[in-house]
Amino acid sequence: MRQNLHTHSTYCDGINPLEEMVLKAIEKRFDILGFSGHGPIREDYAMSIEGTRKYIEEVKLLKEKYCDLISIHLGVEEDSTNRMWVKEPFEYVIGSVHTMHHDGMTMPIDYNRGILECINETWYGADFRKLAKDYYEDVIRMKDWDEVDIIGHIDLITKYNEDESFIKFDDPVYVKYACEAIDAFAGKKIMEVNTGAIARGNRKTPYPYKNLLSYMHEKGVQIVLNSDCHDCEYLDCAFEETLQMIKSCGYRSMMVFRNGTFEEEDIEIFE
Ligand SMILES: [Zn+2]
Ligand SMILES: [Zn+2]
Repeated sequence: MRQNLHTHSTYCDGINPLEEMVLKAIEKRFDILGFSGHGPIREDYAMSIEGTRKYIEEVKLLKEKYCDLISIHLGVEEDSTNRMWVKEPFEYVIGSVHTMHHDGMTMPIDYNRGILECINETWYGADFRKLAKDYYEDVIRMKDWDEVDIIGHIDLITKYNEDESFIKFDDPVYVKYACEAIDAFAGKKIMEVNTGAIARGNRKTPYPYKNLLSYMHEKGVQIVLNSDCHDCEYLDCAFEETLQMIKSCGYRSMMVFRNGTFEEEDIEIFE
């Protein structure tokens, strides 16, 4: 079983047209490919409203065209700054926070290291714990958003923290805030293990960091493995190592999207 439910395209900030991504997924022997274009917000990385209409139509066409070779699904990555409220016409929704807010200003946390440093220094006096508190409080809001199935990259604020220059991954105060978010989603939402920052060369390990993933397992949080793909060459980026990490954190199952719903499957079928 090979599945990726977090896939971008040229309709937003990905580099491949939808069909190119489908063909690569077939070549890489994927069984399930879900597209998750950035839902429309006023940012250049997101789909436009008109683009979203075309995206929906094209995914539906590709779903039919390749139905004998791969299961294609129409998803969306809902941005926390523009709640959609309803799932339709999408089959599933990934809910993600990409920005931080302060005094009426909004800044992206994952655009580059300099912006994150700027947010940390000017808004939080270089106290990353305070930044983390605000970030995870924002993430937690999605716990009651009924349209959201999957929580995207829970610890995205650590994208530029491979060297732990912003925060130690095991900093107890930081970990407490992150675990409060996990507590909020336990039993309500699926969470993703996301290898996107590995593909981009920012990180060596996926979101979430392994101490958080172990905590998620303790709390019975169900997971999917996604590559947050923006370039078809990285559709299965670090999947093998990450599967080992997932197992080492105690997981024996992951979720598969099938017949319009998420089903729990033994982790062995992914190997
Ligand atoms: Zn995202
Ligand atoms: Zn994404």
